[in-house]
Amino acid sequence: MKVVIVGGVAGGATTAARLRRIAEHAEILILERGGHISYANCGLPYYIGEVIPERERLFVQTPENFKRSFNIDVKIHSEVTAVDRERKIVHVRNTETDETWEEPYDTLVLSPGAEPIKPPIPGINSEGIFTLRSVPETDAIKSFVDERRPKKAVVVGAGFIGLEMAENLHERGVFVTIVEMAEQVMNVVDYEMAAMVHQHLKTKNVEFYLQDGVSSFAKDGDTITITLQSGKQIEANMVILSIGVRPEGKLAKESDLSIGTTGGIKVNEYLQTSDPDIYAVGDAIEFAHPITKQPTITYLAGPANKQGRICANNIVFGPKEEYEGAIGTAAAKIFDLTVASTGASEKSLMRTDIPFKTVITHSSSHAGYYPDAMPLTIKTIFSPETGALLGAQAVGYEGVDKRIDLMATVVRKHGTIHDLTEIEHAYAPPYSSAKDPVNIAGFVAENVYEKRSRHIQWREIMGCDLNELALIDVRTPEEFELGTIEGSVNIPTYELRDRLDELSQDKTLVVFCGVGLRAYHAEQILLQHGFESVYNLSGGYKTYETTVQKQANEDLWERDYVGNDDNIYQSEVEGARSFSGHAAAPTRQGAAASATAGAATAAEGAGLAASASKPLNRTQVEVTTVDASGLQCPGPIMKLKKSLEALAPGAQLREIATDPGFGCDVESWCRMTGNQLIALERDGAKTVAVVEKGPGAAQSTEGAPLVLKESTLVVFSDDMDRALASLVLANGAASAGKEVTMFFTFWGLSLLKKDHKPKVRKDFMGRMFSRMLPKTRKQLKLSKMNFGGMGAAMMKSRMKQLNVDSLDQMLEHAVEGGVRLVACQMSMDMMGIAAEELIDGVEVGGVATYMEHAAQSNVNLFI
Ligand code: FAD
Repeated sequence: MKVVIVGGVAGGATTAARLRRIAEHAEILILERGGHISYANCGLPYYIGEVIPERERLFVQTPENFKRSFNIDVKIHSEVTAVDRERKIVHVRNTETDETWEEPYDTLVLSPGAEPIKPPIPGINSEGIFTLRSVPETDAIKSFVDERRPKKAVVVGAGFIGLEMAENLHERGVFVTIVEMAEQVMNVVDYEMAAMVHQHLKTKNVEFYLQDGVSSFAKDGDTITITLQSGKQIEANMVILSIGVRPEGKLAKESDLSIGTTGGIKVNEYLQTSDPDIYAVGDAIEFAHPITKQPTITYLAGPANKQGRICANNIVFGPKEEYEGAIGTAAAKIFDLTVASTGASEKSLMRTDIPFKTVITHSSSHAGYYPDAMPLTIKTIFSPETGALLGAQAVGYEGVDKRIDLMATVVRKHGTIHDLTEIEHAYAPPYSSAKDPVNIAGFVAENVYEKRSRHIQWREIMGCDLNELALIDVRTPEEFELGTIEGSVNIPTYELRDRLDELSQDKTLVVFCGVGLRAYHAEQILLQHGFESVYNLSGGYKTYETTVQKQANEDLWERDYVGNDDNIYQSEVEGARSFSGHAAAPTRQGAAASATAGAATAAEGAGLAASASKPLNRTQVEVTTVDASGLQCPGPIMKLKKSLEALAPGAQLREIATDPGFGCDVESWCRMTGNQLIALERDGAKTVAVVEKGPGAAQSTEGAPLVLKESTLVVFSDDMDRALASLVLANGAASAGKEVTMFFTFWGLSLLKKDHKPKVRKDFMGRMFSRMLPKTRKQLKLSKMNFGGMGAAMMKSRMKQLNVDSLDQMLEHAVEGGVRLVACQMSMDMMGIAAEELIDGVEVGGVATYMEHAAQSNVNLFI
């Protein structure tokens, strides 16, 4: 028996090795187009990033070893160009010498893999634009980085390989920008899970654009200009194309083998193609997904290897062993995060008519009381009819892979969410909790399946009508103050029983807490007190907040400049060298700041984003350290607040947290509370903040207390969008404890007009202006794309959908929040506007009133 195998890497090499073990006398020949067999494709990005330092480590086997150990013949640089199925021969061409010959076979195995997609975009073949699949491509990228020392790279496509390359180039000191056409990175997971990756990439200073594709590449010298479909232009020195792959189906197609709808080679359950003497395995085959039953190509090494074994068994023992398909279990390291998934995603199930439900749970990687517990989020997808586990996704810093592997075993074995509750796991505090995150996911899913709890997803409350639905935040008032869902009321779980009369039986009640546990308790209280329509927000405020905030990270490098000290700063500075002048690693941004920070005890080695361009001049102070690792938002902030209470003003506190949102939270919290953020460092997955207790007011960087606690805004424009922006800023500043004065001049006065104005006597010019100006706020137009009022109407409906306050509501909140609204007397006279025409609560003042407040302000905006 002679078996010829086309392709000598994952599927091909495994088939050959298994064949030899079970068929000592078979003649086995591998024909490989490239120069290597059985190499570690999955390790290629890490070799470029120098995580794998030695090139030889990539090669699991060599042709010589294969011959010596397995008596398998390998011909490299040998491309199979055609298959003559009648004569049972393949035509082969040596890619180095062009020599051609024929090889006969009894059985042929196709394992040609997949090729990177390269769409016909202008300039795509320019030098410096790479794809990554093979060893030569890896060598080309590595030597480009080693020798040309690129400063900036653009990675097009944010799948697994794109993100791995982004991380590895970043590790090599290259500034990385990712461009992704979809609304999220890593299409295999659902949006809210990808949102966690987006927020993590932001903490790593990776620039990325979402929902934007590349329309052209233009090379000029060392620079490639990448023009996006939005018109945005990005300059880089190199580009990695990782838009996706497609099966290498040409050979099979030209041999008249059946090709499936996905472009993959069709095989039966024994991995035979439409010709029973030709088998096919790996990235090139199409097979029904065990859950969705949709024809699917699985571009993963594990399935290719397993298929190789089944294929060899069937060749030797006859077609008996069935392949059941792959559920697509995968994991990827994205900087400090691990993202993993198995089975069907919500997105893929939406394309079928399979009913499903999802729950999101937030747990810790191990017992919270044992150091360094890290947050871990699981999305569980199951059938509401049978409880069958259909899929799962997990994102976190530790132990993500083992949780997904457990879930994958249950999916694979057609298990249910009840099986998740029963999984018996190895437990000791450093590894897990007595109830593992997988058990917790099972408990929550079971509650929903048994209809003991009803979950609502973050997306479903986005456009809700607050007249029909009430959002109840059951966290503590302190947590509520730090941020909540717009329009929600705060009734902590422990007060709920006494405040039931505040809730309407006629409305749907959506309760939420940080992660869903207290809300579950609240839901049960409400249900047992007769409220019928009660829902728990799945994943709580944590999921909601991560998902509804801005996802892309654009224009990150636009304001970069290199200071005279050779460190990189971010802001506009006259005379500074432009971006292209620097040659430092991205991580130096933080290091640069810390180098200038003189707070030796506290800020040593820490990045100080807040005041990067101004060195601190501080004396040595003692620092107290508290460990908030394992606590989830807002636990670290609450701990910070409590710990600072025990310290005297001027003392410093160093807090270590593992909650990924802590970095952002601590900056805002310090600004809001008058404490000073001395240092903020990210150490892997940990965030370390050093905070100095302030006397109550904001501190200047020199340490002198500032009395500037006002903000003034001059509102000159009557454009609807500008009016909205000014009110958002004013209300935000007021809620952060600022005294805010809004000074309305000229066209801006239109914002203050009453809906039903009294009749007032006006002179001719006053009457003319009255006719020309908007009569009320309702008539304001957009500054751009107004389209005769359609744009403004669209904006209003979008705001309603997203539950954003209307202009009227924002104005009401401003008045309630103590914002001073001052109408400029001089402008009123000029435009013929009388005081009676303005809404209640507006003061009429002159420039002196404005100047008085402006002098007390450290924020003064003209809109
Ligand atoms: P391949 O391993 O690609 O082998 C196909 C071989 O066939 C190639 O060497 C090709 O030269 C040869 N060939 C093609 N046509 C011909 C012809 N006509 N004649 C002769 N030879 C031919 N998967 C994971 O599960 N986890 C990961 O972390 C992971 N990371 C990856 C990272 C990178 C950079 C890449 C490129 C892939 C990664 N994968 C990963 C995917 C995984 O490598 C593939 O799923 C797996 O290698 C598929 O095996 P295969 O045998 O089908 O194809």
